[in-house]
Amino acid sequence: MSADLTRRTAADLAADLAAGTTTSVALTQAHLDRIAAVDGGPDAGVHAFLHVDAEGALAAAAASDERRAAGSPASALDGVPIAVKDVLATRGLPTTCGSRILEGWVPPYDATVVARLRAAGLPILGKTNMDEFAMGSSTEHSAYGPTRNPWDLERIPGGSGGGSAAALAAFEAPLALGTDTGGSIRQPGAVTGTVGVKPTYGGVSRYGLVAMANSLDQVGPVTRTVLDSALLHELVGGHDPLDSTSVDQPLPSLVDAARRGAEGDLSGVRVGVISELSGEGYQAGVQARFEESLELLVKAGAEVVEVSCPTFVHALATYYLIMPCEASSNLAKFDAMRYGLRVLPEGVDSPSAEQVMRATRDAGFGDEVKRRIILGTYALSSGYYDAYYGTAQRVRTLIARDFAAAFEKVDVLVSPTAPTTAFKLGEKLDDPLAMYLNDLATIPANLAGVPGMSLPSGLADEDGLPAGFQILAPALADDRMYRVGAALEAALHERWGGPLLDRAPALAAQAGPTDANGASA
Ligand code: GLN
Repeated sequence: MSADLTRRTAADLAADLAAGTTTSVALTQAHLDRIAAVDGGPDAGVHAFLHVDAEGALAAAAASDERRAAGSPASALDGVPIAVKDVLATRGLPTTCGSRILEGWVPPYDATVVARLRAAGLPILGKTNMDEFAMGSSTEHSAYGPTRNPWDLERIPGGSGGGSAAALAAFEAPLALGTDTGGSIRQPGAVTGTVGVKPTYGGVSRYGLVAMANSLDQVGPVTRTVLDSALLHELVGGHDPLDSTSVDQPLPSLVDAARRGAEGDLSGVRVGVISELSGEGYQAGVQARFEESLELLVKAGAEVVEVSCPTFVHALATYYLIMPCEASSNLAKFDAMRYGLRVLPEGVDSPSAEQVMRATRDAGFGDEVKRRIILGTYALSSGYYDAYYGTAQRVRTLIARDFAAAFEKVDVLVSPTAPTTAFKLGEKLDDPLAMYLNDLATIPANLAGVPGMSLPSGLADEDGLPAGFQILAPALADDRMYRVGAALEAALHERWGGPLLDRAPALAAQAGPTDANGASA
C-alpha cells in the first residue's frame, strides 16, 4: 500500500480498515495533519475548510475502531473520514453557507445525508468553503475568503463547492459531500481534477440542505475516483420521508455499475455528443481532451454519435430566472429574528423590526446574493411574473423534452464539463455574466432533473491544468454514468500513466508532515 494514507482512495482505505492494516484514528489523524499543513486560512494555503472538527472526528474514529475490533462495522465505509460542504446542516457544528448572515449559527439537527454519514461511521473532518449560499463558480463569493486551487494557488477551485473539491485535490479528505444547483459539484470537479456527481433529482435527500433553489438543488459525492463516488452516493442516497421530493424507489447498484465499467468493455453502449455543448466557445485544450476521451470510449466498444438538443442554448437564461426566483423566496427567512446575525441600524433609538431586518440583510448578504434577490424579486413581481418566470418554466419543459428525445437515441449524453480550465482569482469577479458562463454545460441537467458526472479528462493547457468530461444519463439511470465513467477513467489512467492528481505541481511543493512521516500505518 501507498506509504501516505492521505493519497489513498476511499475504497482502498475501506479495504485497509477491513483488513486491519490501519485504524480509523490513524487515518483520520493523517488527514487532520494534512489539513494543518496545507489548508492555511483566508490569507494563505488552500483554505478548503471553514471549520475543522478535530475533536469530533477523532472521537468518531475511535468509536469506529471499537466497532471494527468487535467485528461489527456499521458500513463498508465505517471509519473513512469525510468533509461536508457548509450548506448542509450539522448538529453541533457551525453551518454558515459561506455567509455572514449565518455566522455563529449551530444547527440543532443533522441533514439526512449527514445523519446517514454518522450512522455509517464516517468521521466528519469539518465543513468546507463555498460561494455564499452556493451562488458562484469560483468560491470567491464566500464571505470568509476564497478557496485556492491546489493545482495553482493563484487560481480558482471552481464553485460554488470549491472547498469540497479542493479538499479532495489537496488530499485533505478522501471523500466529501457537495451540492449542485447548476454545476457546483461538477464544475469544481473539472477544474481541480477530481470526480463529482449530481444525482438524479430526488435521488438524494435535500432535508437539512439550506436551499438555494429547491427545484434544482441536489446533494452529491465529491471524490477522486468514480468508484468512490458510487460508494458514497449509495451510502447517502435513497428515499427519505423527510423530503417530499425524494424518490421512493430502489436505486440500481451504482457500485456494481462502476466495477463493471472498470473492466473496460462498453460494447453496445450508445454515447451521444451534444452538438450545442462543445466546439465553439470551449478552450482548445478542453475540446482536445474531450475529443480524445471520445476516442477512448470508441476503443472500449461504445458507439459515439452526435445528438442535437437545440433548446440547450437557452438553458443559461432559463436558469438565471428560475434560480433567483426560488432563491429570493428562500432567503426571505434570514430576517435577523430566527438565525445568526442581527445588526441594529445606526443612530436609531428603538428600531422597528423592518429597520433591523434591513440593516441585517444589508450587512449580512454579499453583492452576488443581493443581485440575485433583486433579480428574483423583480421577475416574480406582479406584471412581470408570467413574462419572466412563466416563460422560463415553459422553456424548462422544452429542455426536458430535448433530453427525453435524445435519450430515445442514446444511453448517455456527453460534453466537456466546463468551457475552460481554472482561471485566475479575481479574473471574473467583477463580471457576473462571465462567471455565469462557466455553467453553460452543467445547467441543463439541473433544469431537467437528470443525473450528471464530471471526471478528469486530462491536462488541457500550457499551464498543465486539468479539464473535465461530463456524462449525463436519464433520470434514475445514474448507474449508466458510473459504468461509462469508470470505463473512461480506466482508459485515461492508462493514457496518463496513473491518476491525474499525481501531477498537480502546487501539491508537490506543499509536502506536509504526513508526507514526510506518511507510513503511520
Ligand atoms: N454557478 C452556478 C450559480 O452560481 C451554480 C451554483 C450551484 O450549483 N450551486 O448559480
